[in-house]
Amino acid sequence: MSQPAELPVELHEADRRWAEALLGAPGAAQRRALAKTITLLESTRADHRARADALLNALLPHSGRAFRLGISGVPGVGKSTFIEALGLFLVERGHRVAVLAVDPSSSLSGGSILGDKTRMERLCMDERAYIRPSPACGTLGGVAEKTRESLLVCEAAGYDVVIVETVGVGQSETAVAGMTDLFVLLQLPNAGDDLQAIKKGVMELADLVVINKADLDEAAATRARAQITSALRFFGPHAQHGAEVLQTSALKGTGLPAFWQAVTAQREARQASGELTHRRRRQDEAWMWERIQAGLQQRFRQHPAVRAALPGISADVTAGRLAASVAARRLLDLLN
Ligand code: GDP
Repeated sequence: MSQPAELPVELHEADRRWAEALLGAPGAAQRRALAKTITLLESTRADHRARADALLNALLPHSGRAFRLGISGVPGVGKSTFIEALGLFLVERGHRVAVLAVDPSSSLSGGSILGDKTRMERLCMDERAYIRPSPACGTLGGVAEKTRESLLVCEAAGYDVVIVETVGVGQSETAVAGMTDLFVLLQLPNAGDDLQAIKKGVMELADLVVINKADLDEAAATRARAQITSALRFFGPHAQHGAEVLQTSALKGTGLPAFWQAVTAQREARQASGELTHRRRRQDEAWMWERIQAGLQQRFRQHPAVRAALPGISADVTAGRLAASVAARRLLDLLN
């Protein structure tokens, strides 16, 4: 574990103490520092953002050591049951597990699809695990950014498995696959009966597919496994070899050792081939560009000349008086 002396001098005094606690031994002080740091990262105040940036940079050299596992699936497929069972399985084997979430619905509808508060009660109480609900920051990009940053902080605190969960709706799977080393899609046993229902785009992201609730209908789960395995030969990151499809019962805890074995095997193979390093570099670069685009758009909308001209030009476009591309060029020219 690193020494406080390595922290950069420009850190705010309180943040330095948090950083020291974060990089120190696991325990109550570290958990408090972790929660405080993530709260600071999630703040929308400009002065908080400046402090958070300095803190994040100070922690960055201590991050990167965890295995980052993305988990997705439709509401009700058993994500929280699965993550709790997996988390308990892992802490029993000496791991420290952090669970983060990307749930854009919490800010849009005021309610959370992931329903964070009452979930994973047993894992919540375990000192070797840290569970953080999804930030509520408006856009998916905003929510995902906070989760990515929280992931780095958890790594600096020594959590060696970070699970990032999301719901099987919209673009959130792409965001989570873009911040994790391995992306797992949970499916129901009847999924194979209706392959149309499986979104091709999401299947393409999956490194592993898990048929959960296999205890409900073994025969259906086996059928689904065969059907999804053959579908994955055509589209999926491992199309040439066919991605792995496993069966579990998160409720009964069956299939978890085989799941973790499959995850570990993929991780080791990718580490050995250099693919893991390459994937993280690509993700970091894509993250930077995604944030640049979001920032530029925000500045564009706030620019006084643009704000003045936008309503009129927009009206011209919708009335058919001005081509959309010409309108965009005129507005962009106002920035000069
Ligand atoms: P989430 O919405 O994806 O997080 O799903 P939950 O973990 O909340 O699970 C939804 C329901 O399915 C709960 O009632 C769970 O107890 C149940 N469930 C989860 N996993 C299994 C499983 O493997 N087998 C069975 N029979 N039920 C399960």
